[in-house]
Amino acid sequence: MNSQSTGTLKKIVGFHMDENRDWVADLECGHQKHVRNDPPYTEHHWVTTAQGRLEHMGQELSCSACRLISSR
Ligand SMILES: [Zn+2]
Repeated sequence: MNSQSTGTLKKIVGFHMDENRDWVADLECGHQKHVRNDPPYTEHHWVTTAQGRLEHMGQELSCSACRLISSR
């Protein structure tokens, strides 16, 4: 479908805040990904609102943890 050159695409299944009050996306693979710092200075303002998070449920993010596993 696509090259997946930046990681393995995984769907968002939920969100939570970490201890630094940064939003973290829970991915379907069980890994987690900060929504704010990829790439640097790209802030996802939608993540700060319940409506925005709802709208992005199921969106695919590249999971670098999965990429590490699959490239082994
Ligand atoms: Zn993963």
